[in-house]
Amino acid sequence: MKNNYRVLSTLLVLLIMMTTQAENSKNPLLKPFTNIHQTAPFDEIKSEHFLPAFEAAIEEARAEVQAIIDNSEAPSFENTVVAMSKTGDRLSAIRKIFFNLNSAETNEDIQKIAQEVAPMLSEFGNDISLNPDLFARVKAVYEQKSSLNLNPEQTTLLENSYLGFVRSGANLNDADKARYREITGELSKLSLKFSENVLAETNAFEMHITNEDDLAGLPDFAKEAAALTAQSKGKEGWLFTLQYPSYIPFMKYADNRELREKMYRAASTKGNKGNEYDNNEIIHQIVNLKLEKAKLLGYESHADYTLQRRMAETPERVEEFLSDLHEASRPAAEKDFAEVVEFAQSEGFEGELQRWDWSYYSEKLKKARYGFNEEEVKPFFKLENVIGGVFDLAKTLYGIELKENKSIPVYHADVKAYEVFDADGKFLSVLYLDFFPRDGKRSGAWMTDFRGQWQEAGKDIRPHVSIVTNFTKPTDTKPSLLTFDEVTTFLHEFGHGLHGMLSQCQYESTSGTNVFWDFVELPSQMHENWAYEKEWLDRFAVHYETGEKLPAELIEKIVAAKNFQSGYMSERQLSFGMLDMAFHSIASPLTEDVAQVETKAMAPTELFPAVEGSMMSTAFSHIFAGGYSSGYYSYKWAEVLDADAFAAFKEHGIFDQKTAKAFRTNILEKGGSENPMELYIRFRGQEPTVDALLERSGLKK
Ligand SMILES: [Zn+2]
Repeated sequence: MKNNYRVLSTLLVLLIMMTTQAENSKNPLLKPFTNIHQTAPFDEIKSEHFLPAFEAAIEEARAEVQAIIDNSEAPSFENTVVAMSKTGDRLSAIRKIFFNLNSAETNEDIQKIAQEVAPMLSEFGNDISLNPDLFARVKAVYEQKSSLNLNPEQTTLLENSYLGFVRSGANLNDADKARYREITGELSKLSLKFSENVLAETNAFEMHITNEDDLAGLPDFAKEAAALTAQSKGKEGWLFTLQYPSYIPFMKYADNRELREKMYRAASTKGNKGNEYDNNEIIHQIVNLKLEKAKLLGYESHADYTLQRRMAETPERVEEFLSDLHEASRPAAEKDFAEVVEFAQSEGFEGELQRWDWSYYSEKLKKARYGFNEEEVKPFFKLENVIGGVFDLAKTLYGIELKENKSIPVYHADVKAYEVFDADGKFLSVLYLDFFPRDGKRSGAWMTDFRGQWQEAGKDIRPHVSIVTNFTKPTDTKPSLLTFDEVTTFLHEFGHGLHGMLSQCQYESTSGTNVFWDFVELPSQMHENWAYEKEWLDRFAVHYETGEKLPAELIEKIVAAKNFQSGYMSERQLSFGMLDMAFHSIASPLTEDVAQVETKAMAPTELFPAVEGSMMSTAFSHIFAGGYSSGYYSYKWAEVLDADAFAAFKEHGIFDQKTAKAFRTNILEKGGSENPMELYIRFRGQEPTVDALLERSGLKK
């Protein structure tokens, strides 16, 4: 009886295994993709396919990694580093499909699966990055680096792999490893607490208005939103909060100065009230733990640690960059400030201009100077015309052609799939375009891919790129008409798209947009520049009803409005970058008060009188809760790069094919295969300078 039971249970296990196998063999995510260009079989994939596919693919990837560890041959670049880069192909494909859908076409099922899958993936990731045997092999290869005769991309792959381990503590002794893990755990708790405090402080404030006179100056949309907020809390009248959609319009338009001051004081003291949500002590802990972690890993400071994997490379370089730009922006910022003061006085303002007056008078001045209505511009940007303009630009510059192919499966009826061909007819990429908002799509715009680019056994595996936006949907009577911002957004994402589509690299992890963080916005922002060029707009921007060209004076206004208060805006961005560096480039533990650090760091860029109790740091989530520590400078850095790169086009003509070819071969095709500064110099002949940005934004004397 007992034996029979055992036989039976063995049979049962076998049966379950066979059923799983049989089911998995029917799972479209686990079968070879047989559609054209091996595109994802969206027409067959159902939500229930994901979890078993993830399970099987993780198991497969684990076995591939184990085979590398178990290899009895001595570690070599090929059998260890390249072999690692080729593991988990199926997992990567499933992962991309799943998470792209979770952003662009999600539902409750997918969200639930995401919750289940996240810990599985992080456990798998940890098993690899914390595996001492695997690290020992990578390290052995890394130590022979100079005798291996590697090409630049292979060297990059080896460095990425080795540093990936080392920077997560793989080289530490056991005691230090334990401390490292403690610090990382502690830091993630503290940054969570930091943002919870900011959120609590944001939600704790509301301004209840019952007298309609206090709403003077506000546009209808702001009043309606405030009335709805009041209603939703069972109150009469209007309710304003510190959430941006409520706060910003109030500061821009409300005539009542006292109420603006009240709002400003509430917003600017978040996390600095000495109450249970105070962030001062948390900042001390975060900053000092980051320093300890950096020292443990052998770096002088957290900034040194972070910048090792950035184009900017060192804190000194970032500091010099910020102070050079500050010097150039300062006179213009002072002029912008004086202009607003003068304008405010002409409107009857008396006394000293305070921070709560700035948006209000700036907005009025902007309107007086460049007032044009967004609605006037939209009829010239019918979506189909803009697509034509962007494709035509790609053809003119890079010789590439995009053709819609309806046989490529898509994940929603609104999505269009294109094949991208090079000038010689060679297939380059698949491009999905997904323009309109719907339930299940997150807001904003982004570029992503369903497959990267790499080479395998002499074969060039071409990428599947996707651009997702939330542009206005057409109606029965009106086509989709874009705002000017949406046109630049399209160019921006298309620029990222080109980085992916034109990639010519060996390994997936060094190809396409897999580049240093302060380099990734170069192709995207550079392509935005064409939106301000009459020569390009004239090619496609015609009124959708009359066929009339976008009037030149409207283009001039758009360009002028772009540069409005560029000196002031520049100083503001720089001040945040300087504050970030002040906290993160320290080489010994922080003992000063947060307020002291802030006052000192921001003094050079200050334009306003100080406001008692107001503080930027205690609500600066970007650097204390987000990923921007020692990285805030990168906003400005990317602007410098894109302006300097576009200046090369301006010098030779914005459609110059020679310049475009240099940009394509040195930047767009190279992904992250080499040091970005070297790539840039090959394109431009020299390092980028701030001149072009100053010129473009009207800051140059
Ligand atoms: Zn971008």
